[in-house]
Amino acid sequence: MKRAIPVSRATFDEVMVPTYQPADVLVTRGLGSHIWDQQGRNYIDFAGGVAVTSLGHCFPKLVTALEAQAHRIWHVSNVMTNEPALQLAYKLVDTTFASRVFFCNSGAEANEAAFKLARRYGVGSDPDKCLIVAFENAFHGRTLFTVSVGGQPQYADGFGPLPEGILHLPFNDVSALEKTMSRNVCAIVMELVQGEGGVNAADPLFVQAARDLCSRYDALLILDEVQTGMGRTGHLFAHEYYGIVPDVLTTAKGLGGGFPIGAMLCNERSARALTPGSHGSTYGGNPLACAVASVVLDEVNSTELLEGVRSRSDLMSNRLDTIGKRHGIFDHVRGLGLLLGVSLSENWKGRVREIVDAGLRNGVWALAAGPDVLRFAPALNIPVADVNEGLDRLDRACAELVRGDAPFQR
Ligand SMILES: *Cc1c(COP(=O)(O)O)cnc(C)c1O
Repeated sequence: MKRAIPVSRATFDEVMVPTYQPADVLVTRGLGSHIWDQQGRNYIDFAGGVAVTSLGHCFPKLVTALEAQAHRIWHVSNVMTNEPALQLAYKLVDTTFASRVFFCNSGAEANEAAFKLARRYGVGSDPDKCLIVAFENAFHGRTLFTVSVGGQPQYADGFGPLPEGILHLPFNDVSALEKTMSRNVCAIVMELVQGEGGVNAADPLFVQAARDLCSRYDALLILDEVQTGMGRTGHLFAHEYYGIVPDVLTTAKGLGGGFPIGAMLCNERSARALTPGSHGSTYGGNPLACAVASVVLDEVNSTELLEGVRSRSDLMSNRLDTIGKRHGIFDHVRGLGLLLGVSLSENWKGRVREIVDAGLRNGVWALAAGPDVLRFAPALNIPVADVNEGLDRLDRACAELVRGDAPFQR
């Protein structure tokens, strides 16, 4: 007989490699924007699994698509192609700037593909054209190449020697960018809203400058839309809001609505830098992942849903502003669409974890983005009633913190 394995939050510290310190909550079930823990306690999900569950938990059409595909075929490898991958690629090409798609399993893998493509593109025309320009505070994933391109040195600490030929400039600094650009740059890589880095939106003039400089110096503009893509900002992709077109775009997180998938989208010119055998992924284009993502794309790419993101964004930011003023914990609200950040006031700097924990004690799950910013990335279709209920709970959590109520008695 099989032994029943008792699992609790404490089991994590026993058996997992200690790369995380998860919250003291073990979630076992979700529906829409509600989740429940092992003890049956309910939470409003303002985290969306870090901007991933774009249509909420167990969205019926996604469950149906996954079940239907589960009865057909799970995997064929890249030696053969498959229908769900081709359908999803076709739809992505149809609805975006891109004419080519590469599938993989995560945001880091999508960026890894983009950075490798950029190197091939540059070095293919001139051996010195290998420099990648990136920005301070950026986050692009956790592989060695992506932490090296990322602009948060703590993520690369102790993992050297690191890949070379990467320049980090201050974000939103047009003149630094102009001074640095040269024929030796093969790509500029940026997030349009730095998510992990604290929910900092790019300045439209800065984005336009990056676009112009890339065109002038024959470099690729790579937009990391892993977090901002797939409707998150109230546009299918955030570059539409900025009114510019990249050469390469990476997406993941929301694309699978909770099923792992990543994609690199590119124009014809840059796609030609990669040739058969030059890059790959065993699971890339997996039929289960692509079948789910196809439905996510159909749902998210609708005027009604995207307008809904923008109106929910207004509601949330107005109420967060009010809550902040009432308790003196928040400084100001920023971000785009349903990727919102609240910077903490002077007295609360560095204490975001306390606020996240107080939220959890009061039945609402928000995220940290660095030590000083509370981040919200709920499902794009979160019911307005859930937005209000979650914010009421956050309001109570803030009141509790300000009163200095006993913290650790869940
Ligand atoms: C989350 C994130 C990544 C990494 O995605 P993974 O799926 O965790 O590899 C890369 N870039 C940005 C902007 C992200 O937010």
